[in-house]
Amino acid sequence: MRCPFCGAEDSKVVDSRLSSEGDAIRRRRMCQVCNERFTTYETAELSLPRLIKRDATREAFDENKLRAGIMRALEKRPVSIDAIDNAVKTITRRLWATGEREVQSRLVGDWVMDALRELDEVAYVRFASVYRSFQDVNAFREEIERMENRALSDKDS
Ligand SMILES: [Zn+2]
Repeated sequence: MRCPFCGAEDSKVVDSRLSSEGDAIRRRRMCQVCNERFTTYETAELSLPRLIKRDATREAFDENKLRAGIMRALEKRPVSIDAIDNAVKTITRRLWATGEREVQSRLVGDWVMDALRELDEVAYVRFASVYRSFQDVNAFREEIERMENRALSDKDS
């Protein structure tokens, strides 16, 4: 990180913390040449773990892609954009909280399923059917039945 005072390349991080919104890391740096201090902000995305895909290739976590996927599942469903944003935020934080440099992308998929199950069951099934690529109709039916049973027991309680 180039020093804004003298232009030297050599700086040391003296403090590092998450911004109050939780979406950036604030780093306090000290120039090793002129000893001036300055602050840099890095967006959280840069420090989030990379995703390991099924074919073992890696890709950067993309919040927009995540949001687009969730919105696709929630198309024409009665769920507010605020609720979607919250789900995206929650998933991003969970990813952040792993502290790993790389995680299986499957993990993020599971979190999306968790979020959708809370938001809207129709969207959940929609997403699960694609994401889990149910091998046969029976697996899909079992999932539906499981949900229906759960809906019934919710009513009882
Ligand atoms: Zn300097």
